Formats: sequence, C-alpha cells, structure tokens
Amino acid sequence: MAAALRIGVIGGSIAGCAAAVAGTRAGAEVTVYERSGAELQDRGFGIVMPPPLHRELVGRGYLEAGMETAPVATRVWLTREPGGRSTRELARQTSPVTPCNWGLLWRSLRASAGAVRYLRGQPVTSVGEDRDGRAVITTARGEERYDVVVGADGHASRTRQLLAPGLLPEPAGYPVWRGAIPLSALAEHPRELELLRGAWVTLGFPGGHGIFYLIPGAPRDGAPAGPDDRLLAYAVYGRPPATRAADPGPYVRELAQEHFPAAWAQIVAHGTHRTTACHPVADVQVPRAARAPLLLAGDAAGVSRPHTASGAVKALQDALCLERVLLEGPTVAAALERYADERTAAGARLVELGRRMGRAQVEETPDWAAMGQDEVDAWFRGVLAGTRHYLYAQEARAD
Ligand SMILES: Cc1cc2nc3c(=O)[nH]c(=O)nc-3n(C[C@H](O)[C@H](O)[C@H](O)COP(=O)(O)OP(=O)(O)OC[C@H]3O[C@@H](n4cnc5c(N)ncnc54)[C@H](O)[C@@H]3O)c2cc1C
Repeated sequence: MAAALRIGVIGGSIAGCAAAVAGTRAGAEVTVYERSGAELQDRGFGIVMPPPLHRELVGRGYLEAGMETAPVATRVWLTREPGGRSTRELARQTSPVTPCNWGLLWRSLRASAGAVRYLRGQPVTSVGEDRDGRAVITTARGEERYDVVVGADGHASRTRQLLAPGLLPEPAGYPVWRGAIPLSALAEHPRELELLRGAWVTLGFPGGHGIFYLIPGAPRDGAPAGPDDRLLAYAVYGRPPATRAADPGPYVRELAQEHFPAAWAQIVAHGTHRTTACHPVADVQVPRAARAPLLLAGDAAGVSRPHTASGAVKALQDALCLERVLLEGPTVAAALERYADERTAAGARLVELGRRMGRAQVEETPDWAAMGQDEVDAWFRGVLAGTRHYLYAQEARAD
C-alpha cells in the first residue's frame, strides 16, 4: 500500500484547522504547527458567512451541526435624521447571512480536525526543500519532511514571502474598531435589539459606517449558551484620529457621538464590552496561491478589506477546494496547480471588491441622508459592478 500523503500546516487558526480537515478527508496524514501555546478561542468577535456555505461545511463534517449561529435574512441601512439625533431607515435588502462567534467557529473546526497531530506552542522558523523536492519544516524541536506544506499563518504570513518575496499589504488609510457587548448589558435598547433579532444593520455617516449584528455567546461553565447569551458585535470604519492613542476607545466613542443616531452612539459608548480591538485596514493578494510543494490558505494567501466579510469564508472555501483537488489528483503537483488557478482568482476578485466597497462606504461616502431604497439599491449595484457577492443576494445568487 502506498504511504499516505504527508501534509504540514503552518498556523492552527481558521484556515489551518480547515486545511487540516481537508487533508484528512483526502486521506493525508496532517500535522499542524501553531505558534500560540494557548487555546485560540477567546477572540469573541463576529464572523459572518453565507448560509449555503455553512450548510455545506456541516454536511461535509468540517463544522459540528450543534455549533450555535444567529442567522438573519435582511439587511437594514440606517442613518441619522438630518438636524436631529433620531434614526432614519434608508433601505432594506434581502441578505441572508449566518453570523458565528469566532471562538465557536474555531473550536468546531478544531474538533472536526480532532485526529490530526496539532502541535501547540511550536512556531515554524523556516520552510525549505530537500533534494527530492519534499518540503522541510523547521521548528526549535528539529526538522520534518512533508509532501505538501500549507501556509496558513495569517495576514502577516512569512510563508507568503516564499511565494511572493517582498509582497507587502497595502494600507487602506483608515482603521476598523470592533467590539462585542453582552445583550444583558443593553436592556435600555429594546428597539435596536428587536431590529437586530431579524436583521443586520449598516449605519452610514459622513466619512464612514458601522456594521451591527448579533452573534452567539460562548458557553459558560460548560453549559451551552442560549439566545439570551448572545452578543452584539459591531465594526465601525471611519477616518483615523490625527494622533495615535494607546486606547482607541475614546476616539470611536467621539466619532459615534458626533455622527450616529443617539441610541446607536450609546451602544458604542457602552462600558460593558466583552472584547474590543482596533486594526488598520489593509489588503494583499499573492500572484499565485501555490507552487508545489507549497500552498497558501486564508489570510496568508490574501486579505481583502473586511467590508467583504469574507476572510474566514475564503479560508473555508480554500479548504473545500484543497480537499477536492487532492482527491481528483492525478498528481500532487497537478492538484496544487488547479488550487492556484481557482483560489488566486477568487482572492483577487475579493480584494478588488473590498477596495470598491471601502471607497464607497468610507473614503467617498454618499449623502446618506438624501438616499432612499432606490438610491441605495442603484448605488450598490454600481459598487458591485457585476461581481457576485453573498451579502447582496438581491443582486446576485449567494455564493
Ligand atoms: C473587522 C473584521 C471583520 C471581519 N469579519 C469577517 C466576516 O464577517 N466574515 C469572514 O469570513 N471574515 C471576516 N474577517 C476576516 C477573518 O477574521 C480572517 O480572514 C480570518 O480569521 C483569517 O484566518 P486565518 O486562519 O487565515 O489567519 P489567523 O486567524 O490570523 O491565523 C494565523 C495563525 O497562524 C499562526 N502562526 C503565525 N505564524 C506562525 C508560525 N511561524 N508558526 C506557527 N504558527 C504561526 C498564528 O498564531 C495564528 O494562529 C474579518 C476581519 C476583520 C479585521
């Protein structure tokens, strides 16, 4: 019997665990190297994915059927009433999404990859090739040889440098502030919570916008989280502050106070956050996502601006593609070529779309206050420019 294909995966987060499931399903022996020594489950941020992808991942054993999600089917666009502090609804669109909690998603993928050798606290220090064309992964504990190495080491990937030396992320010039707040702390906002139980919200303001949606909470003391344990997740994009502060919280609260309807500004100003973060927005895409024996997955292969809500989605689709090409063969090199053809093109489309979305929703925002349903629909058709994207099911099939 031929020896099983050996796959080494660098990075044990969303892309790495998904690639590990893919490799195992394709009959390979998989080892995952994760730099972090701790469990990667406490990030608590929201991740949205298309419902058909979620169903496919459950059906194929990538995600557990019991993983909590908070699906909604409508997107509501809001802005502040001109000259006042109340909320005005501009438009509603059909937009079925499956919001997940990053930690639960990771845990579910990790459980599905249960059989693989998952080495925590083991940063990969280099990747090379031996004389027979096999990849050599080096860590502080020594060297191991693999037929395929998956670089799933995130947005600052060092593995990417092996396929695209000198390629650097391109800054968008604006940041995103993210937060998650327990619903129990938002009792004073019944109207906003009622809206969010059936829809995800985009709140437009001059020079930026905010996204708000509900995600499942994490289990507490081993007991599964229920609907009351959900979190309100948000992401606010806007002009950067003139000076960089150690704590970015006060600036985003000022931004919200200046531009949001009063109720939504109070939500962002709320002290009871479960998590907060502020990242500069940037994007990058490798010119080719694989060259045997190396392939890149998730953010290592490419990062689109987060307006596309697609980084984790892409990592999961990368894994589905990897499983398929490995099963189709006929050789590892041919499989990786097909992976590169498909996934490089998909990543490049997302980067382009993310730039157009960023231009329209942050850099050159429209006069939201003057817009209604027809204007929002026409404006976004222009931004999509024919690109299919799952957040705009009205304009395109969900894919
Ligand atoms: C504001 C915001 C909102 C977003 N919303 C969405 C959304 O709604 N939907 C969606 O699909 N995506 C979304 N994303 C994107 C998504 O979060 C990322 O694309 C995804 O988490 C990337 O996963 P990854 O596994 O590729 O990278 P990471 O999660 O960054 O993992 C990389 C891993 O590699 C490890 N590592 C690095 N170097 C080494 C080494 N040398 N050796 C061993 N291990 C190493 C790291 O420790 C880490 O665990 C959003 C992103 C942002 C910023």
